[in-house]
Parts: sequence; C-alpha cells; structure tokens
Amino acid sequence: MASQIGFIGLGIMGRGMVKNLVEKGHSVAVWNRTTERSYELSKEIKVSVAKSPRAVAEGREFVLICVSDTPDVEEVLFGDEGVATGVRQGALVVDLSTISPSAARRFGAKLTEQNVGFLDAPVSGGSEGAAKGTLSIMAGGSVGDFARARPILEAIGTRITHIGPTGSGQMTKLMNQVLVVVNMLAVGEALLLGRAANLDLRKAVAAVEAGAAGSWMLSQRGTQAIDGYWKPGFTIDLQQKDLRLVLESAEELGVPMLATSLVHQLYNKLQRQGKGGLGNHALVQALEEMAGIKLHPEA
Ligand code: NAP
Repeated sequence: MASQIGFIGLGIMGRGMVKNLVEKGHSVAVWNRTTERSYELSKEIKVSVAKSPRAVAEGREFVLICVSDTPDVEEVLFGDEGVATGVRQGALVVDLSTISPSAARRFGAKLTEQNVGFLDAPVSGGSEGAAKGTLSIMAGGSVGDFARARPILEAIGTRITHIGPTGSGQMTKLMNQVLVVVNMLAVGEALLLGRAANLDLRKAVAAVEAGAAGSWMLSQRGTQAIDGYWKPGFTIDLQQKDLRLVLESAEELGVPMLATSLVHQLYNKLQRQGKGGLGNHALVQALEEMAGIKLHPEA
C-alpha cells in the first residue's frame, strides 16, 4: 500500500533510499539542509520538495530521517522548524541514521509525549545497499510501531529485524561497526602481506572470498583498495563518529575494545592527514605507510 512519507537527509544513503521508496509507489516529500540537493533529486524522480523539517512532516503518516550524527537528528526533530513542531498525532518517526542509543531513547520518549511513534532503525549495507534497496535494518521500538513501519522498510532493505525496545537498534548497529572496522583491519593486513609477496591480489581475493574468510568488507572494499579507489561509500569522518559511540558505550558497559580502539587511533592519524573524507577502507593507507609499500602503485 502506498504511504505518505516525509524524508529528511539526502546524503549518500538518503538519496538511494528515497529512489527505492518512490520506485515502490510511495508518495515522498523531501527536505535536505542544502536545498540544491533536494531540487537535483526532484529533477531525477517524482518527489516534492519541502521548505523545512516541519513542512516535510506536516500531515504525513511517516517521517524518515537519515542525517549524520546525534546532534543533527536532534536539530531536525526538535529545532525551531523541527519535525516535532509539525508532525501530526499518531504519525511514526523512523530514524535511519546511526546515533547514540541513549539519545535515541530520549528522542523516542519526547515524541511519545506528543503521541508520535518512534523507531530507531539504523542500517548496514553501504551506499551499494542503499542504492539497490538491499540494506540490513536493525530496529528498536514497540512491536506495533515496527509492524507499521515494516512495509516502508521493505522498500529499502531485505533483512529487517526488530531487535527490542527503543535504543536496541542503535546498540546493534554499534556491534555492526565493531565487526566492520576490525574486519577492515584484517583485510588491510592480509592484502599488504599478499602484495609484499607479489601475489596477484585479485586472484587471491577471488580464491578466499568464497571460503571461511569471505566478507562484505573484503569483497567490496578490499577490491577497491587493491584498485586504489578511495572514494567514500562511508567516510572516515562518519566512521569515527560511530567508533566514538562504540567506545562510549563499551566504557559504560565495562567491555574491553582492544582492536576497535586501535583502529580508532589509526583513523585519527588519517584524519590529521586530511583524509577524513576518504572511504573507511582507506584504513589500508595507514598500514601502507607503516609497511613502506602500496597496494596500488599509483594511488
Ligand atoms: P552523508 O552523505 O555525509 O550525508 C549526510 C546527510 O545529513 C546530508 O543530507 C546532510 O545535509 C545531512 N545533515 C548533516 N547534518 C545536518 C544537520 N545538522 N541538519 C540537517 N541535515 C544535516 O552521510 P551518509 O553516508 O548518507 O550517512 C547518513 C547516516 O547514515 C549517518 O548516520 C551514517 O552513519 C549512516 N550510515 C551510512 C552508511 C554509508 O555507507 N554511507 C551506511 C550505514 C549507515 P547536507 O546535504 O546539507 O550536508
């Protein structure tokens, strides 16, 4: 069934998500802080362009958000022209951004006071998953709100899981990020070992990816690193935002994060070198510097 959706945030992820929602027949109004991005998209697909988060929420049954960080979600929700000033009672807000689990609980409680539902529903699967509509979605919130959102989420993802109460989607995403970055460290070390031994790295990856060592990071981002292609699906700056969230939660919960802390330090170094806008697989560049060799001679 087609739904009336307001969508906030047309970044790398948001644009793909909106295209898939429209393709599945939903009626979508968009708002993006940088207005030109909204108009660019409206030339490509059938969306209406709203003037503020408030306007995008007004009269709509669902409001979906995909912006960078916790303060950004707070601003679009509760700022002067925020969603909370225009959203109708009984509507459902779904936050697809990766933010702090405790902030998600706080935002959910504030919206509930207005009789507005809230799901934290961060995603995984990269820019490719957003473009193809094959994201993994990990949701926190009530069973009823999850059931209501499910048909919408099916337009943008293929594995859609209700984890538990509000905040548990974000906590699951933090687990996801530990797995992503530690995996990327292993991918970088393995590729450099192969390069130092003069292996054909494409062949080596093709041989191992179907076995026990296969992973999305190896097949997608490892092969980009071999080619010296560093354009971001997910930037180092955003990755560091997530690792800060991971390390804060781990500190609160008393869980050691040895490898994740190490990767966080390596990304710090890359950020200081002005590389925060590169893709998160450019972690390899920190290792290349230590090894004194490069995966790709010209990159
Ligand atoms: P992005 O390309 O950098 O886009 C960020 C979006 O947030 C832009 O639309 C930006 O607007 C908007 N924004 C930032 N601060 C804002 C503010 N204060 N008020 C209003 N809008 C604001 O990021 P992305 O890669 O799409 O990521 C978006 C979210 O998805 C992040 O939470 C990220 O961690 C998560 N995520 C990303 C990936 C990935 O592979 N890229 C995968 C899973 C999850 P402007 O256009 O005006 O800058």
